[in-house]
Amino acid sequence: MFENLTKRIRDAVDRLRGRGRISEEELKSTLREIRRALIDADVNLEVARAFVQKVEAEALGQKVLESLTPAEQILSLVYEALTEALGGEASQPALRSEGNLWFLVGLQGSGKTTTAAKLARYYKEKGRRPLLVAADTQRPAAREQLRILGEKVGVPVLEVADREPPEVTQRRIQEAVRQGARDLVLVDTAGRLQIDEALMEELARLKRVLQPTETLLVLDAMTGQEALSVARAFDEKIGVSGLVLTKLDGDARGGAALSARHVTGKPIYFVGVSERPEGLEAFYPDRMASRILG
Ligand code: GDP
Repeated sequence: MFENLTKRIRDAVDRLRGRGRISEEELKSTLREIRRALIDADVNLEVARAFVQKVEAEALGQKVLESLTPAEQILSLVYEALTEALGGEASQPALRSEGNLWFLVGLQGSGKTTTAAKLARYYKEKGRRPLLVAADTQRPAAREQLRILGEKVGVPVLEVADREPPEVTQRRIQEAVRQGARDLVLVDTAGRLQIDEALMEELARLKRVLQPTETLLVLDAMTGQEALSVARAFDEKIGVSGLVLTKLDGDARGGAALSARHVTGKPIYFVGVSERPEGLEAFYPDRMASRILG
């Protein structure tokens, strides 16, 4: 991931390496190159512009031009700006000792069901007692997929029935939580191939009844900026508290990750880095920035 971006940022900065003082024009041309690299990585235009302006202002303010190690200093400013673009401080979904109910929402194919199972495994390893809920009332195949994944990670799965009303689902969840002393309920909601009004209505209704403590939107990073328009639509219709970006392992460019915070205003909580149940990582903006800089 980010291979090309890493190389281009390094190449741009390496041209200044070993040099004492550089001119303002050289600084600007380096930053122009970084801006082009960001745009080619499918980073939102406004994010790329703001990024470069910030680095330039800081570089001039810190008198990088007069420094004896301009390349190192620019690299460190780029690192800070990348960390900020990725969200600054790491954020995690709120987790209380009990009564946690998280919604997973997203388009079909985004990796929502896989992520539900990954989260169940992740928190089970941390000593939690998760319950998975397969809440697609229209697609039995989606429920079966979660049942199989639940078995794989050793977490019980409650399946809703066809066209089950949310009130019934709520009662069944309460019962399962009580009987199994479950402290984290992960609800894999229905997904469709596109944003669809009927689906949004259904999700909003389920949300009103179940009152989730977190609503995680699962986005396919490989779809780039498109994923972020999907995010805006979901947030408008049902409200989102944080993001999970999947398939980062297949996303050579990285534009969605770098623009998500700015475009959606939501933190990235986790990233998916493989198809396997263990392929989920808590997201740390600073570590990702280091990774990008190679
Ligand atoms: P859903 O329709 O949103 O529930 O999506 P699925 O969970 O069925 O995932 C769709 C496809 O993406 C499946 O083939 C998953 O194995 C794959 N997938 C999900 N997350 C990741 C990931 O982080 N990395 C990779 N490489 N594949 C993933």
